[in-house]
Amino acid sequence: MITIFPGHSGKDSGAIQNNTIEASITASIAKTTYEMVRACGIDCAYVDGSFDDRIKHSLGSSLGVEVHCDSFSDKTKVGFHCIYHPSGVGKMVAEVITDSLMEVGVRPARNPDPRTDLLILNKTKFPVILVETGFLSNKEECERLRLPSYQNLIALGIAHGILSVSK
Ligand SMILES: [Zn+2]
Repeated sequence: MITIFPGHSGKDSGAIQNNTIEASITASIAKTTYEMVRACGIDCAYVDGSFDDRIKHSLGSSLGVEVHCDSFSDKTKVGFHCIYHPSGVGKMVAEVITDSLMEVGVRPARNPDPRTDLLILNKTKFPVILVETGFLSNKEECERLRLPSYQNLIALGIAHGILSVSK
C-alpha cells in the first residue's frame, strides 16, 4: 500500500504566508495525488490527523509521501525539492519523484536532501518522501500554489513518480 499524507492537518495549520494556510494547499495536492494513484489501480491510502494517527493508519505501507509547502526568510526562494531518509531506497524514490515533477513542469529548487531529524521519516518502517512543493513565502509562487491547475500538476508529477517505482 502507498500512503499519502498531507503535511499538517487539524489544529496544525503549518506555515501561514501571504494570507495562505499551508495545510489547505497540502490537503488539496495530497488528495488529488491519492485519487490519481488509486485511479491507476494501485492500493493507496490518504492518511491525515495527529502524528500517532498517521503512524497507526499507515502500518503495512510500502511507501509514503508527505506533501508540504516551504517558507523561508529569504522571500526570493522558489521551487520544489524532496527530502528522504538516507537509509534504504529513499534516495532513489526521491530522485524518481523529482524527475517526474520536473518532467511535468513543476518549478524545481534543488536536488533531494537527506534528513535524519524528521519524525515521520524516522518512526515509519517504510520509506517516506517529503515533497516540499514550493515556497509560500514567495508571493508569486504562493499565488501559483493556490491555483488548482498548479496543484493538479504537482499531484500528477508525484503520482507519476509513485507509479514508476510501484511497478
Ligand atoms: Zn509543512
